[in-house]
Parts: sequence; structure tokens; C-alpha cells
Amino acid sequence: MHYFHENPYEKSITARILEERKASEGHAYVFDRTVFYPGGGGQLPDKGSIQGQEVLRVYEEDGKIYHVLQHPLNCENCIMEIDWERRYLFMRMHTGQHLLSAIFEREFGWKTLSSTIQENYVSIELSTPKITWEEISRAETEAYRIIQENREVKTYWLSAEEAKKLPLRKFVDVGEEVRIVEIKGLDFSLCKGTHVKGTGEIGLIAVYTTEKVRGNARIYFKASEEALNQFQSWRNKIKKTISNLAIEEELFSERLTQIVEEKKMLSRKLKKLEKEIAEEMVRKFVEADTPVLIDEVEFEDEKTIRSIVSSLLRKNKFAIIHSPSRRKVYLSIPDPSLENRVMEVLEKFPHRGGGKNGVLEFMFQDQKNLKEAKNALQSCIFSKVKGGRA
Ligand SMILES: [Zn+2]
Repeated sequence: MHYFHENPYEKSITARILEERKASEGHAYVFDRTVFYPGGGGQLPDKGSIQGQEVLRVYEEDGKIYHVLQHPLNCENCIMEIDWERRYLFMRMHTGQHLLSAIFEREFGWKTLSSTIQENYVSIELSTPKITWEEISRAETEAYRIIQENREVKTYWLSAEEAKKLPLRKFVDVGEEVRIVEIKGLDFSLCKGTHVKGTGEIGLIAVYTTEKVRGNARIYFKASEEALNQFQSWRNKIKKTISNLAIEEELFSERLTQIVEEKKMLSRKLKKLEKEIAEEMVRKFVEADTPVLIDEVEFEDEKTIRSIVSSLLRKNKFAIIHSPSRRKVYLSIPDPSLENRVMEVLEKFPHRGGGKNGVLEFMFQDQKNLKEAKNALQSCIFSKVKGGRA
């Protein structure tokens, strides 16, 4: 048993040094008592200071808690202080995890297989392959009800034998003495972490995302003001979207689905039109009988650009087509002896891509590279084509 187990609300105390040892970062101290939680049970170790010096690391070894500092301490009654804001959030999130785990087990029969408490969120892996947002809402509402009741959260030590008689959610063999965390009328758990004394302090629990892990559903939730922050951030984004789209708030979801459908329909129409434009481009170019087609095109569908290149190649036409938005150049080279020359010219410009049998495609790092490469390709092809004709 450590001091923080019985006094989780103590932020700052004085303590006497019992032991000192070398640590890679400096010096590690054991005190007669401590407010620093060393981590474990899914909860992170505390941060804070001793005699104004930042504590670099806290760890537990053989039941003793070591506090690592850069410089040696020289104090009779050393003042230690934890980062209380961070710790208090951990206490609320951790108690929230007990609460939610208990509700999932009671309401749905799902066991908590693992859980972690990070800086501002908690995750729980549940013994179910899937979970719906309706089920999550039901659990959140029940959690909210128990938070409102401000149920007492008690912690006490029992022998393992006595503990086994309790309706524990899960028994883990952790020695002769075990610590019980009880949410009155709801839950008994074994845990050595730090918790709040009443469920009311949790304030709010809100699940914000889920994922699948090892074939099980894992939920992520926020508690207290972190849950409120999440809500506010989403609310503001949604409000902004609604205002940008100039739609009615009540019809938000329906209107968004409609917009997506409209977009798909327009995209199909656009592709059809682009195809017609491309065919016209090829036709006019062949008619004009100029040696090399040089053009800038911005088609929604890249396949359309590629189809222009292939059509021209079939008609033995050279083409240098570029698309600034894609940072790409598309080439039709009906002369196999020119392909290697093209590759040589491009060596100077950072690019990806290649091609064969007369159809080549390259993507450049930036607009400057694209422009310079395009000009270099132009001179290269012109010299060959004009030279050939002269
Ligand atoms: Zn706990």
C-alpha cells in the first residue's frame, strides 16, 4: 500500500529520503511516502517535481517507488508535487472506465478484455466482434444516469480469499492482499490505480470512435471537459459545414446524401463530355497534320488523357501533354529510338514514372520541375522530328 492509494487527492506533500541509487538520467530516490503514481493497470505514471526539480521518470520495483531526477537532492523534508490537472483527469477517466466496463458487462454481457488510459482519452476492448452506435448510446445514457446519482466509489484492501467471495468482474492473482475498487451498487474491481470518490466527478462520458482489434470491438471515449471539448469541436465543424453548404440544419444528413448523389451523377456526365472533347482534340490534330501535339489538359478522369495519348500513338503522332494539377507529362513517342533519349533528358528533373512501346508518363516534384522538364522534352522531340523531316 502506498500513500497515494489512501490519499488520491493529495497534490503536494513533504517526504523523507529512504534510499538513493544511480539512474541513467541521474539519481533515483525512494521516499518514506509519495504522491507519485508509478503507472500500471492501464494508467500512466504521474508527472511533477521534487524540490522544484522536474521528475524525469517514476517506476515501481519490488514494491518500492523510484523517482528519477537529474540532480542530487539535499533535503530533510523534500517537497514533492504532482501535475494535478493531468492526474485529476486520469482519476476521472479511470473511474469512467470502471463505470463503462461495468455497464457493458451488465447490459450486454461483454467483458472488458483490455483498457488503456492515455493523456486525454480511454480505450476499452470488449468481448464482442461488433458494436452499434445504438448500443453505445444506451451505455452512455446509463453511465450518465449513474454519474448524476453521484454514487460513492470506495477503495479498500482485502485478502485474496475474501476478495474471491465478491462478484468481481475479473479476478487476477496478484498476491495475498488485493485492492478493491467498488462503485456502490454496480461494480467490484481489482485495481491499484487512482480514482475519484464519487461518480459525479466524472461529469460526462462520450464515446467518439470505435475500431476492430484482434476480432473484438474497441471503443474510445473521453470524459469530463475532454468530452465537452470533443462535442464543441464537432459542433463547430458541423455548424461551419451547414453554413458553407447553406442547408437547413434539420435536413443536414439527407441533404449531404443528396449532394453526394448529385456529385456522382455530375461526375458521370463530366466524364462523358471529356471523352467527347478528347476525341475532338485528336480528330482536329490529325486533320491539321502538325508534327507534334503540345497541349495542357485538365480532365477529371485521367483515363481520358491516356486515351488521347494512345490514339495519337496509333496514328504515329508525337504528343507532349501536361497536367499542372497532377504535375504530370504524358508522351506519345512513335519512334522507339527516342525513348532512351527522353529518359536521359529527364535525368535532371526529379520524377517518377516511365512507360514503354511509345506511351510514357512522368510525375514531377513541383510546378517548376514540370515546366522545365516539359520544355526540355519539347526541344528534344522537336530536334528529332524536324531533323528527320529536313
Ligand atoms: Zn482502476
